Amino acid sequence: MNTEGNLKKEEITSSKSTQYRNFPMVPRVVFGQGSFSQLGDILLSNRKSSEAPFIFLVDDFFENEEFANRLPIMFNDELIFISANEEPKTGQVDALVTRIKEKYEELPSGIIGIGGGTLLDLAKAVAILLNNNGQAEQYQGWDLVNRPAIYHVGIPTISGTGAEVSRTTVLLGPEKKLGINSDFTTYDQVILDPDLTKTVPIEQWFYTGMDCFIHCIESLNGTYLNAFSQSYGEKALELCKEVFLEDLPEDESRDKLMMASWHGGMSIAYSQVGIAHAVSYGLSYLLGIKHGIGNCLVFQHLGEFYPEGVQLFQKMMAKHDIELPQGVCSNLTQNDFDIMVNVALGMDALWENALGKEWKKIMPPERLQAIYQRI
Ligand code: NAD
Ligand code: ZN
Repeated sequence: MNTEGNLKKEEITSSKSTQYRNFPMVPRVVFGQGSFSQLGDILLSNRKSSEAPFIFLVDDFFENEEFANRLPIMFNDELIFISANEEPKTGQVDALVTRIKEKYEELPSGIIGIGGGTLLDLAKAVAILLNNNGQAEQYQGWDLVNRPAIYHVGIPTISGTGAEVSRTTVLLGPEKKLGINSDFTTYDQVILDPDLTKTVPIEQWFYTGMDCFIHCIESLNGTYLNAFSQSYGEKALELCKEVFLEDLPEDESRDKLMMASWHGGMSIAYSQVGIAHAVSYGLSYLLGIKHGIGNCLVFQHLGEFYPEGVQLFQKMMAKHDIELPQGVCSNLTQNDFDIMVNVALGMDALWENALGKEWKKIMPPERLQAIYQRI
C-alpha cells in the first residue's frame, strides 16, 4: 500500500546504485487571487471540437447559480456537482466514466476538477479511465496506467493535501485504499486561486492544513529525506508556521497556505509520508474517518516519534481553539483493532521512512494497537 508519498522502499534502497525516478510535474500553473477567471481562456485553446465537451466535476458546496455562472461553459460542456462527504471510490470513478462515455460520441476535451482533495482525486481518476480500458481498481498501484489521461485541470478550493501537484489519486476500492500512481495522473494544468478558499469553515481549514503540516514533519524527519524533498518541505513548514501560529491578514494567510500545500506535495513527491499517515489509513479504512482529521487524531499521540512537530501541532490547536473528538476507538473490538493494525502495518515504505529498516522491531502490532487505543 502507499499513500500520497511517492517513493517505494526499493527505490530508496537502490537509488545510489541504480536509477533515480523520473517524476512528472504539473507543466502549467497559474497562481493569484481571482485567477479562476482565466479558466475560460485556458480551456479555449484546449478544446478539441464543439462536439468534445469539457466536463466540470465540482464539489457540491459550490452548487449555486452564482458559481455556475462563473464557469466558462460552452457547447455541450457538462457540469456535475459531487459530494465530498465521503472519500472517492473506485466504483464512483467507474460510474462517472460510463456515464460520460455513454452520453458523448467523442471523448471529452478535458476534465476540470474543482474542490478539495476529494474532487481533485476524482477528476484525475476519471481523466485516466476515460482513456484506459477496464475499471479503476485495476489501476490502483504503481505505474499500471498505459495510456495518457485525457487533458485535466485541477482547481483546489481548500489548501493542504497537495493533491494538486501529486502523481497519485487515492481511491477506496473494494479491497483496498490505494492510489493510482502513474506519470499520467498529474494534472496538465492547475489554477491556484486563494480566493476560492475563502468559505472553508475553520475546522476543515485546520484539518486539511494540518495534512500539509504533517506531510512536512513526516518528510523532513524521514530516513528517505533528500535535498529535493528537504528544500520543498522546509519552505512548506515555514509557511505553515506563519499561517497557523502568526496573525497574518486573511488574504495573505490564504495565499501562503495554498503555496504551503503545493510545496508540501512536492516534498513528499520525492520521499514518503510517515507514521501519522499509516495509522490514519487504518482509521479511514475501518471507520471512514477522513484524511485530514484522521491525521490530526493520530498525530497528537506521536510525541515520542515527532517531538517538535507534535509540540507545534498542539500550539496550533490551542491558538485556533480546535478540539478533536475523543474516544473514537473506545468501543472497538479486538477484531477491529486487528484490521486497523494490519492496514497500517501493510504500508512498509511509510514505516521504513519513519523508523528505518528495523521498523518492524520498533513497531510491533501491540505497540501500534496501544496508539489506536489512545485515539
Ligand atoms: P475534501 O475534498 O474531502 O473536502 C472537505 C470538506 O470541505 C467537504 O465538505 C467539502 O465540501 C468542503 N469544501 C471544500 N472546499 C470548500 C470551500 N471552498 N468552502 C467550503 N467548503 C469547502 O478535503 P481535503 O482535505 O482537501 O481532501 C481529502 C481527500 O484528499 C482525501 O480523500 C484524501 O485521500 C485525499 N488526498 C489526496 C492526496 C493526493 O496526493 N492525491 C494527498 C492527500 C490527501
Ligand atoms: Zn496526507
